[in-house]
Amino acid sequence: MICDSCGHDGARIKRVSRSYGKGDDMVVIDKVPIVVCAHCGESYMTAETAHEVERLRLHKKNVKSRRLAPVIDYV
Ligand SMILES: [Zn+2]
Repeated sequence: MICDSCGHDGARIKRVSRSYGKGDDMVVIDKVPIVVCAHCGESYMTAETAHEVERLRLHKKNVKSRRLAPVIDYV
């Protein structure tokens, strides 16, 4: 796909885990599609993705359960 930043073909979608906000407002969203460009190294969200992330964040405020326990690798 075409990179919005440099205009070259070679940008790809990469799924990443992203955290938004701080403290009690912090939300981690898994598998957020980020556009990563091999040409200019830019990584960004499309407007559509940013909109969806915002929607998920608002939705999350109504969810009471939280995963606050730290995850530790056994090895
Ligand atoms: Zn680019």
